[in-house]
Amino acid sequence: MHEFSICTNIVESVIAEYEKIEPGPVRLLKVRVVVGKLHQIVPETLLSAYEVLTKGTIAENSQMEIEFVDVCCQCNKCLWEGEIDYPFFICKECGSGDIALIHGKELYLKNLEVEYDETG
Ligand SMILES: [Zn+2]
Repeated sequence: MHEFSICTNIVESVIAEYEKIEPGPVRLLKVRVVVGKLHQIVPETLLSAYEVLTKGTIAENSQMEIEFVDVCCQCNKCLWEGEIDYPFFICKECGSGDIALIHGKELYLKNLEVEYDETG
């Protein structure tokens, strides 16, 4: 499944980022990822993939939040800019197919929310 391979990468970066945090937190609470709609991710599938893939890792029981980014393009002919009706890469202003992608391909870890040992 598509979501599982994407999620494997996410979990890897989550663990790598978490281990870089100084001073070391006690727990990972939440993970925010930014996903362009071009990836055609089914949120429920990504969330359950996350749950499965984080089992036994420091990310186990943490929550994943997905921020979707609309597929946005700019027309090379009339310079119209906006959301297109994916998967149709056609300018909504002049109907040209000569358009360039601006947003929608994003796929990255935005931030982590962690918990520190307050009693320290
Ligand atoms: Zn146009």
